[in-house]
Amino acid sequence: MKKIIVAIDGHSSCGKSTMAKDLARYAHYVYVDTGAMYRAVTLYALRRGLFAADGSVDRARLEAALPGLRVDFLTDAVTGLPQVCLDGENVERQIRGLEVSSHVSPVAALPAVREALTRQQQLMGQRKGIVMDGRDIGTVVFPEAELKVFVTATPEVRARRRYEELLAKGQPAAYEDILRNVQERDYIDSHRAVAPLRQAPDALVLDNSALTLEQQRQWLIDRFEERVAGS
Ligand code: C5P
Repeated sequence: MKKIIVAIDGHSSCGKSTMAKDLARYAHYVYVDTGAMYRAVTLYALRRGLFAADGSVDRARLEAALPGLRVDFLTDAVTGLPQVCLDGENVERQIRGLEVSSHVSPVAALPAVREALTRQQQLMGQRKGIVMDGRDIGTVVFPEAELKVFVTATPEVRARRRYEELLAKGQPAAYEDILRNVQERDYIDSHRAVAPLRQAPDALVLDNSALTLEQQRQWLIDRFEERVAGS
């Protein structure tokens, strides 16, 4: 059967990665979480002390480090899920906390960072059979993707989901802080000059505020099957 590219974009914490992972498992496709790649670069910048007190990043030093920085994925032997690695170190857990979340948007706004990660993402999708989630997959990384989905939900629903996720992982954070972070990231991601978060004109929109996980999963599988049958 012909393989396609599935691009899943949308706001932060709206369940994109859960949907994308489910579809990749269903279709036996490769799943790529591009947010994890921006988070890994942010973790590098935090570890190197590249942030000023006002939250701005030392652009020159980060850009100079980029060519030598390795961000890739290994597959967890037990879950079969990809784990993001920074220079060979599995940093999947470290990148999910609020510290990385609250520093990632300025890093993701840097053109040199976007260029380097976009190029790598395009290589990953060369052979198709891929489900990639992020902010600019259907608009910049794969404008030719056969199936594009734009996912959203209200900020309160998204903050509540992230809050419960962190709690379940034993990394509790205050709901109000998470809500503020979700709103700030929405703003920066939508207003940056390079590859801002936009709905591609040919994307299907899914507001999942009131949907169960199973409903979202089925909705995406149905769209996928329609697209594969039509291609
Ligand atoms: O998807 P996730 O919330 O983990 O992404 C973290 C951050 O990475 C986003 O808030 C956004 O600033 C950035 N990002 C991006 N482009 C992507 C994926 C993520 O700018 N394709």
